[in-house]
Amino acid sequence: MRTDNWSWEHVGGVTMRFFKKKNEVLDPYAVEKCSSCNKIVKRKFVEGDYVFKASGKCTACGTGQLMIDKIFGELVK
Ligand SMILES: [Zn+2]
Repeated sequence: MRTDNWSWEHVGGVTMRFFKKKNEVLDPYAVEKCSSCNKIVKRKFVEGDYVFKASGKCTACGTGQLMIDKIFGELVK
């Protein structure tokens, strides 16, 4: 178990800080949004992800470009 209170401060050039209380772990997620059909895909954060990063073609409409809309940490209980 990690004991540090601050985690992954530098993500893709954007400084992000997530404060963790003792014994709480944040699970990072990325939300991708399609530029064409506005489909939203939530997935696990992968190293190298950053907001506005193009992450491939949309599988729903086949023409739009998926872009990371936001990155957030979700509490793991
Ligand atoms: Zn789409």
